[in-house]
Amino acid sequence: GENTEERIINELEKFSPREAVLNKSAAGSLSIPAFLRDKLNSHIETLGDEFFEESFAKSVVTSHFNADRISELGFSEDGACLNAAGALLSYLKETQKNDLSHINSIDFLRSEQFMILDTTARKNLEIFETLRNKEKKGSLLWVFNHTKTSSGGRLLRQWLEKPLIDVNKINKRLAAVSELKGAPIIRDGISEKLKCVRDMERLLGRIVYGVANARDLIAISQTVSVLPEIKDKLSGFGADVLKTAFNQLDTLTDIKELIDKAINETPPFSVREGDIIREGYSSEVDSLRDIMKNGKGYIASIEAAERERTGIKNLKIGYNRIFGYYIEVSKSNIPQAPAHYIRKQTLANCERYITEELKEKETLILGAQEKLAGIEYELFKNICDLISAESKRIRRTARIISLLDVLLCFADVAEKNRYCEPKVTQNDGIIIKNGRHPVVEKTLVDSLFVPNDTVLDCGDNRMVIITGPNMAGKSTYMRQIALIVLMAQIGSFVPAESAEIGVVDRIFTRIGASDDLASGQSTFMVEMSEVADIIKHATPKSLLILDEIGRGTSTFDGMSIARAVVEYAADKSKIGAKTLFATHYHELTDLEHDIEGVKNYNIAVKKRGFDITFLRKIVRGCADDSYGIEVGKLAGLPEPVIRRAKEILSDLEAGAGVPRTTDKYIRGPEKTNSAIIEELSKIDANTLSPLEALSVLHSLSLRARQAPEE
Ligand code: ATP
Repeated sequence: GENTEERIINELEKFSPREAVLNKSAAGSLSIPAFLRDKLNSHIETLGDEFFEESFAKSVVTSHFNADRISELGFSEDGACLNAAGALLSYLKETQKNDLSHINSIDFLRSEQFMILDTTARKNLEIFETLRNKEKKGSLLWVFNHTKTSSGGRLLRQWLEKPLIDVNKINKRLAAVSELKGAPIIRDGISEKLKCVRDMERLLGRIVYGVANARDLIAISQTVSVLPEIKDKLSGFGADVLKTAFNQLDTLTDIKELIDKAINETPPFSVREGDIIREGYSSEVDSLRDIMKNGKGYIASIEAAERERTGIKNLKIGYNRIFGYYIEVSKSNIPQAPAHYIRKQTLANCERYITEELKEKETLILGAQEKLAGIEYELFKNICDLISAESKRIRRTARIISLLDVLLCFADVAEKNRYCEPKVTQNDGIIIKNGRHPVVEKTLVDSLFVPNDTVLDCGDNRMVIITGPNMAGKSTYMRQIALIVLMAQIGSFVPAESAEIGVVDRIFTRIGASDDLASGQSTFMVEMSEVADIIKHATPKSLLILDEIGRGTSTFDGMSIARAVVEYAADKSKIGAKTLFATHYHELTDLEHDIEGVKNYNIAVKKRGFDITFLRKIVRGCADDSYGIEVGKLAGLPEPVIRRAKEILSDLEAGAGVPRTTDKYIRGPEKTNSAIIEELSKIDANTLSPLEALSVLHSLSLRARQAPEE
């Protein structure tokens, strides 16, 4: 159904797969293949239904994982997961032509484990990039940009994409962050070590896929060498997550020993040209190297002996790829060359020869070199296989390292930015004292960020309506709350003095004009379809951020829609979700009296004459004015426009209706225009003959063309 497809698309977007294997019905859906192809640029492969057969899947999966029953692997009774795994494995077997033994376990991702953050919310909350410039700087990710390893960076992204909803798990992460935060010296120590850690997951991937070189093994060894110290530093912690990390961190010393014993410290990039295997690892390699080394000596001694025998002082032995070793005699000495020299090449000023003896040695030396490269390559492959066989252990350790990296990052960021540990609960309430916007507070240069409190729950404080002039800070305030909730649910400390966060299942945002220009929809259409989406999917556990709904259409339409949405969202029998609603329609503040759970707030401004100062403080009650003209003045609208706007406003407020345009605004063309319009309105098209119509049209168009010159 439509709903399922939407959810699938949401999941797909989080992973952005390079390639997707679809069954017939997914491939036949209207939205899924189009989304994969157009938005994600994925390659699509469609497999027949026989690949998704349950019995087929059972046999593929059990034989691959070497399990007796599929339930051992964690598959539930519901067959969809199993069938998909079966199809995928058999597809990989067929296309990869590679050993798949490194796929040695299967993880289940249940979407209800995570808070749902759809694309719109991710964009609007600027989690990974800013709305305007699509830059990382200024996003939430940028605030957390303190991971030390690339795999830690990847894990951080995953966490930001998928905040948790399980209070237990969240609190476990928080406890670990808290303990790390309290141990700055150990924290610095581990961070230092993490800086030396290379991307083990990627290195391992290269090894398993047979594309690694010896330098990759050295990188593994270097990385592994810091593990004992990291483990050591973890030993004293009490938080569950850290204790588990300590217990499960495999220092992989056997792997380091193997690599150090077998691989040269500075091997070449190529794996086919020898110089990989360390001395003492293989007697065969050692003896071939011996021959090669002595071979150079043989050649030198032949050179000396030939000089002696022939008396040619500048005789020398050289080597080239085409005919190997040769004796070179300069032109003037050619007559002295012995008869058994076999001429090979004549150059302008010398002659090149070979001898039986030289060729014999050559075979020995070159043979050894070639053989050696081959043997070294075989040994190298062998070592890679030994390491691949331990991939499960290596991967587990790599995961722990990434986890530590992110937790350390949270602790660092919390300390640096003075965050507090949120109290995360199963309750409905979101109670924040002196909360701040994590990004805006870091980007303000000439002013200090003004912290604000928040009280939201599913009872009396369900719907917060915020009024206040443009630029007062409404959007900042609403996003700050969403971000604080999100940060708490990934297990991070939050920018506030204190925060109690009842977990939310989903954050919805409807913010400003986010024209989806690419899709060719109008701003208002986008706005309305986003609102529709929210109305359809929000639950009482959701958090809704609605910024100026209804702005994209006429005042009355807009206000009516806005009011209807507020009523619906606040109504416990409909949605009853915690909602923040910013609006310019001051009329909506009446709702506080009409609907329980609605509370009015505004962002304070100080006004002196026509000048205003933003105080950035959120206070109870509705704004007494919208200060549009004052903000326009701040923004630099020219004085005559401001003056005229004030004039119109005061007429409107006095109930005089739309005031007449004053004379100074009237220009020539406008007079002509109204005359033409008047004439047009008098014409009765039904009574005109075609010829008359043409003549009227002709004269009107002539006048219209003259109008600007008047
Ligand atoms: P509009 O209705 O025009 O979108 P707004 O009321 O939503 O305006 P914001 O965009 O949230 O206003 O804020 C405008 C600017 O005010 C921000 O870019 C920020 O620099 C500053 N600002 C907002 N909140 C605060 C605060 N609490 N402390 C300090 N500066 C703030």
